[in-house]
Amino acid sequence: MARILITSAIPYINGIKHLGNLVGSQLPADLFARYMRARGNEVMFICATDEHGTPAELAAAKAGKPVAEYCAEMHEVQADLARGFRLSFDHFGRSSSQRNHRLTQHFAGQLADHGLIREVSEKMIFSIDDNRFLPDRYIEGTCPNCGYDSARGDQCDNCTKQLDPTDLINPHSTISGSTNLEVRETKHLYLMQRALRDRLEAWIDSKADWPVLTTSIAKKWLNDGDGLQDRGITRDLHWGIPVMKGDQSWPGMEGKVFYVWFDAPIEYIAGTAEWADANGKQNADWERWWRTDKGAEDVTYYQFMGKDNVPFHTLSFPATILGSGEPWKLVDYLKSFNYLNYDGGQFSTSRGRGVFMDQALSILPSDYWRWWLLSHAPESADSEFTWENFQASVNKDLADVLGNFVSRVTKFAKSKLGEAVPEGGEFGPQETALIAELGARIRDYEGYMNAIEVRKAAAELRAIWVIGNEYLQAAAPWSAIKTDPARAEAMIRLSLNLIRVYAILSQPFIPDAAQAMMAAMGSDDWTWPSDVPEAIRALPAGHAFTVPENLFRKITDEERADWQQRFAGKRE
Ligand SMILES: [Zn+2]
Repeated sequence: MARILITSAIPYINGIKHLGNLVGSQLPADLFARYMRARGNEVMFICATDEHGTPAELAAAKAGKPVAEYCAEMHEVQADLARGFRLSFDHFGRSSSQRNHRLTQHFAGQLADHGLIREVSEKMIFSIDDNRFLPDRYIEGTCPNCGYDSARGDQCDNCTKQLDPTDLINPHSTISGSTNLEVRETKHLYLMQRALRDRLEAWIDSKADWPVLTTSIAKKWLNDGDGLQDRGITRDLHWGIPVMKGDQSWPGMEGKVFYVWFDAPIEYIAGTAEWADANGKQNADWERWWRTDKGAEDVTYYQFMGKDNVPFHTLSFPATILGSGEPWKLVDYLKSFNYLNYDGGQFSTSRGRGVFMDQALSILPSDYWRWWLLSHAPESADSEFTWENFQASVNKDLADVLGNFVSRVTKFAKSKLGEAVPEGGEFGPQETALIAELGARIRDYEGYMNAIEVRKAAAELRAIWVIGNEYLQAAAPWSAIKTDPARAEAMIRLSLNLIRVYAILSQPFIPDAAQAMMAAMGSDDWTWPSDVPEAIRALPAGHAFTVPENLFRKITDEERADWQQRFAGKRE
């Protein structure tokens, strides 16, 4: 039994995520966690909401709520949707937890003790009416280069010139519209990533098995231009983790908080500590996942994320860990994803374009979405959601192939042979051939799942479903029952057992349908079919089964057209 630690990139708190977000991190992480558990491994699967930063403050203000209250409510909304999609986190934490406060302050203190933090004085724009410093993107004004009147503090969207907020003509706050701004001096802490550059490069070079997408992004940030830069890890905000050096105050940093990107990945560790707290465990119980001096030397750690998050996970977070000088677990394998596009364009949260998690569950059960998203995961390139493709995939793969097999076998067995596994006949050459093919394909399926080749695993699972239909077509028990009833009984005995095997193999992708299949077979034996000849005989003659409700329904052309129009933009 191996010990597998899995973290999914943590979703930001300010709203409901769309399906592109889901398939870029949480859903494939869940697939892998479910598979690793099914294989008998000890799994710790952690996710959380990412709750700090200016967007959370502004979203709370817009909702007319204190930011802590807003975050608590939105955390519950996201946790509910995660349950709806059957995301099997061991814990879904919060980056605003006291655990994360203490750990983030601890890491900052360790980095300072190792000489890896420097203080920098900067000139920043302060909005007197908003009573806050303004991040660059919350300042707009006229571009000094092209005269565009809505240029942002960091860049002009019209001529693409990189700007400094003090370059803008007639600058104003985008929060209040106020022009009552002034330049103030403020002090911030910088993590000295340049000093860790060579150690980071050597560590990344040691990861020969990582996807090219992951290492190429990391190398680009290490080497392009002036190379890896030191990074500001504090902000002048009210909401966040107060800047402290471990449990000591940090002179000159009073009233400041850590930058959200510094504390968010530390929440992977803190979230595991929250798991221990929520389950009445001791510190040793979470530390054995994270501290190589406290039992984590045999843990394999996998991270899942969209490609936009790769720089922070290959450079900034490892810099925090390496720089701490303490034996924390570094990631062993980083699985990154490209983007999922939506029907000829992009998903857009601001324009409400595409399908969001709550909307998806309001029209179809989670298995339909899980299957499509995982079988079309944007692995080697961006992929695109279209309603035509979604309809075809659900109707063919789920309804025609898997659903139809289960329905035909159970209905025929019940009407001709009764509601128990029939005992007559022996397995012949057709059954032997099926068992051999099934065994070979299951080994391939395991190979793809172990390598987190999500699309290939989905294609292999579908091929495994097809075997059942092809067998049924060739063996034709509906004919055999008239001429050789014992042969028909052997065929149905095998087919009912195959349904149970399908439930086990399909569970990581479509957990609800798998449960329904297993329940209909009157079993709760989820033993992985490593020994196929044995697995195909697990339900003995005389074992009772039931005919399940239709596992999947088809999507009609009318529904498809209706949904296509409904999700084209402007979320209600
Ligand atoms: Zn311009």
